[in-house]
Formats: sequence, C-alpha cells, structure tokens
Amino acid sequence: MLNVLRKIVQEVSAAPDLESVLDLTVRRIQRAMHTQVCSIYLLDTISQRYVLMATQGLNPESVGVVSLSPTEGVVGLVGQRAEPINLEDASVHPSYIYLQSTGEERYHAFLGVPIIHQGEVLGVLVVQQFERRRFDEAEEAFLITVSAQLAGVIAHAEATGSIQPVGNHAGTGTGAGIPEDRQFSGVAGAPGVAVGQVFVASLPADLEGVPDKPARNIEAELDRFNTALEAVRGEVREVSRMLAQRLRSDEQALFDVYIRMLEDNALAGQVAERIQAGNWAQGALREVVDDHVRQFSSMDDPYLRERATDIRDLGRRILSHLQESTSSGEVEYPDSTILVADDLSPTMLGLVPEDKLVGLVSVSGSGNSHAAILARSMGIPTVMGVVDLPFTRLEGRDVIIDGYTGRIYVNPSDDLKNAFREILREEQMIAAGLETLRDLPAQTTDGYRMPLWVNTGLVSDVERSLERGAEGIGLYRTEIPFMTRDFFPSEQEQLKIYRRQLEAFAPRPVTMRTLDIGGDKSLPYFPIEEENPFLGWRGIRVTLDHPEIFLVQVRAMLRAAQGFNNLRIMLPMVTSMNEVEEACAQIDRAVQELQEEGLDVERPPIGIMVEVPAAVYLTRRFARKVDFISVGSNDLTQYLLAVDRNNPRVAGLYAPYHPAVLKVLHFIAQEARKEHKSVSICGEMAADPGGALLLMAMGYDVLSMNSNNLPKVKSAIRGTSLAQANALLQRVMRMDDADAIHHYLRTSLKSMGLGNLTRPVLPGRD
Ligand code: PEP
Ligand code: MG
Repeated sequence: MLNVLRKIVQEVSAAPDLESVLDLTVRRIQRAMHTQVCSIYLLDTISQRYVLMATQGLNPESVGVVSLSPTEGVVGLVGQRAEPINLEDASVHPSYIYLQSTGEERYHAFLGVPIIHQGEVLGVLVVQQFERRRFDEAEEAFLITVSAQLAGVIAHAEATGSIQPVGNHAGTGTGAGIPEDRQFSGVAGAPGVAVGQVFVASLPADLEGVPDKPARNIEAELDRFNTALEAVRGEVREVSRMLAQRLRSDEQALFDVYIRMLEDNALAGQVAERIQAGNWAQGALREVVDDHVRQFSSMDDPYLRERATDIRDLGRRILSHLQESTSSGEVEYPDSTILVADDLSPTMLGLVPEDKLVGLVSVSGSGNSHAAILARSMGIPTVMGVVDLPFTRLEGRDVIIDGYTGRIYVNPSDDLKNAFREILREEQMIAAGLETLRDLPAQTTDGYRMPLWVNTGLVSDVERSLERGAEGIGLYRTEIPFMTRDFFPSEQEQLKIYRRQLEAFAPRPVTMRTLDIGGDKSLPYFPIEEENPFLGWRGIRVTLDHPEIFLVQVRAMLRAAQGFNNLRIMLPMVTSMNEVEEACAQIDRAVQELQEEGLDVERPPIGIMVEVPAAVYLTRRFARKVDFISVGSNDLTQYLLAVDRNNPRVAGLYAPYHPAVLKVLHFIAQEARKEHKSVSICGEMAADPGGALLLMAMGYDVLSMNSNNLPKVKSAIRGTSLAQANALLQRVMRMDDADAIHHYLRTSLKSMGLGNLTRPVLPGRD
C-alpha cells in the first residue's frame, strides 16, 4: 500500500491541472483498493453543494452535473460531520438518497472520507462496492491518507488561480487567468502599502523559479537559445570524452541519449516553438522541461522515470548559459517596481535601484526573516510567506501590496488602486509630521528620558539613522557586509567598513555584534547545510570554532575605533558561561596584540545578547561577567515559543506579545538591574510603539530599533507619561492571550491620542 500511496502522491504533484489530479486519483484508488467505484465530490463555494467532479465506476455523464447539499445523502453527511463514514449497506442508511443518473443503486458498501484543508472541508472522497461489507481499518487509513494529500493540492490550485474554485465561473480578468482584485495572503513583512508592477527575481539556474516574460525580440531570443544549446552540447561531449576510459560502452551511450534529447525534434524544437509563440527563451525552456519532467515522472518504468532527472539537469545547464548572456544586458525595472522572489534574500534587496523599488514580496519566509528585517529598516513595504502566489506568472502585472496585513492584490481594479493611493498619501503626511521630532528628546510627559538607538547593517542605514535623530547604534549586524562579498573580507577591508559606522556616530556609542551567521543568514562562500539551522551552528558557536575569523573581526573593530572610543562589542546566541569566557579571552588577546603592535587601543565594553532561553536564566550571572545585556527578542521569541521565525506556516503562532514572552522580557530587565548593568533590547519588538512603551515600563535602559520606526516610537514616548506606560504594563501582564494583548495595546494607543502610530484603516480587512 505504501508504494501505491507514494506513486499516487508523486503523480498528483506532477499533474498539470486539477482535473487530471482528480481523474488520476480516482483511477489509482479504484485499482489499488479493488473497488467498483471511486468518486470525488468538491464543495462549490457559491452554491454550497457537493458537486461530483471525478468518478471511476459511476456514470461519467453525471460528472459536473450531479450535486448534493450538505444535508443530502451520505456524502453530505460526511462533509457535515467532517469525519469518515463506513457503511456495510449505504442504501439502508437514513441519509441515503438515490441519485438516478449516476447508476449507483447497484452498490452497497460505502466508505466516504472528508477532504479537509486547514480545518475546512473542501470535498468528499468516496469508494463503493457491490457486496455488503465494511471496509477494514487499513482501507480506511489508506483513503484518509490519500485525502489529506489531495486536500493540499486542491487548496493550492484554487488559491493560485490555476483552477477556478469549483463553481466559480466569474470572468477571468485581465491576465494569466488571474481575476481582477485577486487576493493572496501572506504575513506582514514591513509596514506600508505600495502600488506598482512586478519584477520577478530569479536565482541563478533555478529552473522552477524562472518567470514567464514576453520575448521583446523573438529572433534575438532564438539566437540566445541556440548559443546556449550549442554550449551545453559541447559540455556534454567534453564530459563524455573525459570519462571515455572509465565507463562501459552502455554507460557511455547515455551521453548520446543526452545529445539526442537536445536535438531539434526533441527539446530544442519545442523550446523554439514556444519562443516563437512569444515567451522569452528562459520561460520557454522552463515550460518544455516541466512538460517532459511531468511525462517521465508519471511513467511506471523506473528507468524512464529517472530520465526526468536528466531532463531537469539539461534544463539547468541551458538555463545557466542563458542567464550568463542575459546578465550582461541592462535590466529595465518598472518605475514602481515590486520585487517578487521565491525566497527573498538580504542580497536581493540591492538588486533594484532605490528610487524605483516600492515593495517586496517573498513566497517563503516570514516577517522575522532577515530579509524582512532589512526591508523594515529601508522602509520598503513587504509581504512575506505568500505560499500560494503563482509568482512565475506575475511578471509585469499590476499589484498592490499591503505590508500591514500581509495581503497582496493581483490585477487590482482602479477603485482599489485609488483607495490604496489615498492611504499612501496619508502615510506620507504622517511621516512628514514625524520628521519635525528629529531634534526633540524622547521624553515622556512626566519627564522620563528614554534613549532611542538604531539597528544598522546596510551602508545607507547610517545616514538614515542620523537623519532620524538616533542616539547610538544598539546593534550593528556585521554579517550584512560579509554577505555581499565573494570571500571573507580582510582585516583592512573590515576596518574600513566599521570605521564608517564608528566615525559617523562618534561620540555616540556603536554596538558591533560579532559575526552572526547560520540560521537564515548564509554566506555564499561559507555554506552551512543543516537540517535544523536555527538549532545548529549559529552565531558565537561558529566564531568560537573559527578563532581566526573571530580574531580578525575583533582586531578590525578595535583598530577602527581608534580615536573615537565609542565601540561596544556584543556576542550573539550565547548559551553558556564558557562561551562568554572564551570570547572575552579572545577579545583580550586581540587588545593585547594590538597594544604590542604599538596601537592605542583599549578593551571596549563587552556585552551579550540574550536570545536563547537558557541565557534568560543566567542573565544575572552573565551580568556580573560583562558590561551590558541586550535582548534579541526576535530569536528569543522563536526559541521560547518553538516557532521558526522563517516558516510562513507557523507565522501566526509567532507572537511577540505572548504572555510568556512578556514575562521573560520583564524578568531579564529585573535580573540585569539587580547587578546594576545596562539592559537594552534590539529585537523588532522595540520598533513597535506599543511594545516600546511596555519595554520602557519594564525598565529597559535603551531601545534599539530600525531607523524607520524611530520617529513613531519617539512620538509614542513623547505622547505618554511613564505612569501611563506602567499602568499599561500592569494591565497587560495580567492578560492571558497574545491577540487580546495586541488588540488592547492598539486601542490604548488610540485612546491616548496616538492612533496615527498604529496601522491605518485598510480596504479589504478592516
Ligand atoms: C534578535 O534575534 O532579536 C536580533 C536582534 O538578532 P537577529 O534578528 O539579527 O537574529
Ligand atoms: Mg538574533
């Protein structure tokens, strides 16, 4: 059974459309379970009836015609109860109704299981047999398993518009089968709204991620394709020649198969046809490779199934040559570009000129991914984790993105565009009002002064931060400049980069975090492949294993700070005391070395980040050992709640206002204060006006945030008294539910007259 199941899953995922998926499923199940009938009924979202969508065994003419309401028939009952019903003789069940046109009167045994996706019944999967018998447990389990697989495929197909939801035959709008105002949900990445046109960013040689784009010059596209093809033919011949001595002749023949696959009457001819039909070479190649892979994958013969891998490999090779030839040409970005990527990485943010980039969308990741954090700091509205977005079909389309709620609208109507443009105008007015705060202190109405620092990483952050009145840098993410290079920067190179930050901010303090790679921050030249990267080799664990990297970095920091004396060094992802001791010893060694070299350097203040739950309970001991404590609430939240900060499926569970998170944050502040050590926070929570008020009341000495949110946070602090913030904290600490706390904060801010600091009223959701 397991083999049959695997095969069904494999075929279903390779099927081109929902109709084929359903037909294939009923055929395979009927054969595997030796039943006379297998049928699928899907719930029509408009008529709210279960429509027979595919069958093997019932009258094929009744497909798309026969339907049942949820209160009709045993099928309706399965849907209503959302649980399997297994009957020896369905015809004697009180709910049974006889559907004449199907010819089902001959069947007695009945097993129906609901098709459920994210708690919603999408349809019912049924098997029937002549004889009177109950299906056994194994059969029931098998059908439930297939149904669970099917549910994901149906939901995805409906969401992406690759099929219309059942019964929804509304107009198909302006393009690619995606109707007007089509909404897709992801999670909020960076606040703000944007109206613009899509530019799809593709990864090198990532065939699946290649978008469709219109061919601007068909002849030129054909030429580029033929050149790429010739290059790949050459490569295959070369490999074949090199391996000639080591392979048997039948193995050697495989290369001839490769060459034949590339011939005009195979892959090459088909790609050329699609280019002539108007797709650019890369898109045409993806279409043809997809078709072949699908055909090979569904074959019974294991040898032929393997050919899918060969085709994919050839496709990638051709693609990489095509990409080489494209990258030399100038890319033209729309004036209001919304950059869409399958997996938005920090390095992609620099792809589009700043004056043209108005929004970002990522199919994977979540609001706490590093790409989203950087987008917030750049002030670019961003939506993450739009898992159902058919991104390869969106090139050049009009879209609206709503970075507050995590929604995007494809092919928006003029009315919707105008509504969002109005919000944009209001936002610009609020931002202009906040600019006047630049030189005013972050001081509450009862005179409490709250230092506001910034998190930096990008070169442009420095200027932006100073413009917004930042009083120091609470977190400089040193890994960001490491990410945009081809190898580890030298001590001299690092010195230059760090000095720019230290100099621009002097005499204000600059907190430089030592390299924090791993998790979702990888360096192209230092790949770390792990099954659980967030629980793996990250942050200080990497640098302590590589003292040569750590020492060079610390030396560069110390040298860069000469003459400014505003450097603070911060250690990420600390779990145990020995890590702190070892890191401090390395820093002392670097200081000593430099002093011996005749440089005028001193040991800077050293601090640790509390991001791992174990560190929370050692805060007081760490505080005795180091000069300051800084909380990384992004990671701390993910580790406390056991919610991957990058995974859109659980993004709804990532709750910075979870009562446990608030308790822990309060505890850390109290513990650090017992040792009279400064305690700051540099996670995203400090950037939320409501969160900032709570943290101030908890006793945090410094709030560090992305520069973009600093004016809002300052405005919230200037509009509140410490007494009010304390009362807010006391009330919130008695509440049990993260959503209720969030909601309470928003309404409290509004009643304090700070409503303009929460998100605006948006069409579609509010
Ligand atoms: C954090 O984890 O809160 C933090 C500030 O570090 P990063 O987001 O870079 O992991
Ligand atoms: Mg962190």
